[in-house]
Amino acid sequence: RQKERETLVEAHGYATKLYHYVLRNTAAGKPAMDYLRSRGFSDKLIEEFGIGYAPSRWDTLTQALQRNGFELPEMERGGLLSRRQEGEGYVDRFRDRIMFPIHGGDGRVIAFAGRLMSAGQPKYLNSPETPLFAKSRTLYRLPEARGAIRKTRQVVLFEGYVDVIKAWSAGVTNGVATMGTALTAEHAALLRRFADEAILCYDGDDAGQAAAAKSLPLLENAGFRVRVGLLPPGMDPDEYIGAHGPESFLREVIEGAVSAVKFQLIYLRKSHILLEEDGKIRYLRDAVQLIARRDSPTEREMLLKELSLEFEVSLDTLKQEAADVRRREK
Ligand code: ATP
Ligand code: MN
Ligand code: MN
Ligand code: MN
Repeated sequence: RQKERETLVEAHGYATKLYHYVLRNTAAGKPAMDYLRSRGFSDKLIEEFGIGYAPSRWDTLTQALQRNGFELPEMERGGLLSRRQEGEGYVDRFRDRIMFPIHGGDGRVIAFAGRLMSAGQPKYLNSPETPLFAKSRTLYRLPEARGAIRKTRQVVLFEGYVDVIKAWSAGVTNGVATMGTALTAEHAALLRRFADEAILCYDGDDAGQAAAAKSLPLLENAGFRVRVGLLPPGMDPDEYIGAHGPESFLREVIEGAVSAVKFQLIYLRKSHILLEEDGKIRYLRDAVQLIARRDSPTEREMLLKELSLEFEVSLDTLKQEAADVRRREK
């Protein structure tokens, strides 16, 4: 067991070097370099994040691993190779993809995410679950960000690998991302060891906002104070930084991140038609329910006041309703 893990870690280290070498020093890597440059990746970012390129040939890594004495069936169990569809033998799992190494707790590479440069499916191919790699326990960049997270007692959660990388270059060194899966209670508990505050910075599209709405209670249940960084519809952090620059990202999105309940109220608005009486009443009922669940009486009062002003319902009535909710849910 332990021996196999050690061999697999070695193989991942070897593959990381190979992919990086191909990207930086070969003709086959040129289109990948052009792609990365076009997406604003500097040499510094490529080095810092150990980015590479898996060539399109079927067996570049397979051959290299074999030459170096690695056993191919073991490499398949480690997620680096795939079984040939027809006939005997193995082929490279990752072909013609930009390779992002994923580090484990001790800082060594345990998996990869590979991105296609052109349209096609899947856009990102991750390593499968292996003896080294469990998606539910891994967060992209956590080993590298841990120091900054501990120091600031704050973690920023992104949806995408590129978002983490671009945010890092903008100065957000405490950012991590899940492995293309939803955030779990296990992730939240893991992060809670290092931080008290979580900032959700998911994509500005409907999917991103829905994912933020789902992750938020998970983080609060783990004991986090949560805020949400808001992005314009249809923009993700990478695109925002590209369009508006790092200073604006830090100021408007990260520092300007809104409280959990503010986000929930904004999100709630989207599912109600406020031009109609019915919709207004339903929105108010749901909004009061969200506000009633806050622990702080001051926060509750301030938010109820805002609702009272906007919808011209007396503060007393709203307070009464919030008190009812609190009694019911106790
Ligand atoms: P890029 O900027 O390179 O297009 P992204 O991170 O903006 O990537 P999204 O489409 O916003 O991509 O998806 C967010 C995350 O979801 C990705 O970083 C990846 O982890 C995961 N993901 C997206 N598409 C796929 C896919 N087809 N298969 C597996 N994971 C995916
Ligand atoms: Mn290099
Ligand atoms: Mn995105
Ligand atoms: Mn993106």
